[in-house]
Amino acid sequence: MAEIGIIRGMFTYIDPSVRERLTAQGNLIQIDREGVRVEPGKAPSYGSTISILGPIPLPLELGDLNVDVNWYACVRNTELGKIEELADDLRAQDGQQSFATLASYMAVNSVMVIGNPDTWENPLVRVHSSCLTGDVFGSQRCECGPQMQTALGRIGSDAQGGMLVYMAGHEGRGIGLWAKAATYLLQDAGEDTYQANRTLGLPDDSRDFSDAASLLKYFVDGKPFRLLTNNPKKVNDLGDFGVTGISRVKHVTGVTSSNRRYLSAKQDWGHEISKEDLSD
Ligand SMILES: [Zn+2]
Repeated sequence: MAEIGIIRGMFTYIDPSVRERLTAQGNLIQIDREGVRVEPGKAPSYGSTISILGPIPLPLELGDLNVDVNWYACVRNTELGKIEELADDLRAQDGQQSFATLASYMAVNSVMVIGNPDTWENPLVRVHSSCLTGDVFGSQRCECGPQMQTALGRIGSDAQGGMLVYMAGHEGRGIGLWAKAATYLLQDAGEDTYQANRTLGLPDDSRDFSDAASLLKYFVDGKPFRLLTNNPKKVNDLGDFGVTGISRVKHVTGVTSSNRRYLSAKQDWGHEISKEDLSD
């Protein structure tokens, strides 16, 4: 029964009375696709909305890095709505054991804010694609782990601070962890990271940056900002969703013998990584 309690606990935030309380406290808000806050009970101007839960103070310790962030959990409401409907069905059928499966399909993005957004003039920003193997396990096959950690360090020591948007549904440039594991096997048989996606019949890059764009509009609020990335396509993608005032800041880190080939494929694909960056 304890397990069911925990699983139920995970879903208490969708209980209407809890939702009302969090909304009244200002800890649960909705924004529209343009990053404009939607007043409770009012229909959004258009399209689907994003629910944001936070700020939740989170002291981070990653290796030698210590940084305090305000964490915001962000989920697209179309997705949340579907999950809530299914959760109601499951509850009616007493199908408690399926809640965990259900929850795992919901891509909850994270925003980590460092400093006070009200005083930002040109904050430092990282839009980071989730990578379980790199970010959590410390895999050296890619440079995601060091990139995330270095980004938090750079934002934390920046005079203005800034934010990191962690995109939960971006595993393997959008193909998911299962397919990414398959691409690793293909890569070990000689294909590069992009070829491997194509062999599986998947796009080179299917990451959706529209939620990141809405979150940037809300949190950065139209101010210019510096984006930590080597990928000009990411700047263009955000621009396509109406994000303005981006200046790109180079973010090469974590180059090792295990990921040099991977980084070289990224370089061929358009990432602005210099020869010197990849040398020993
Ligand atoms: Zn990675």
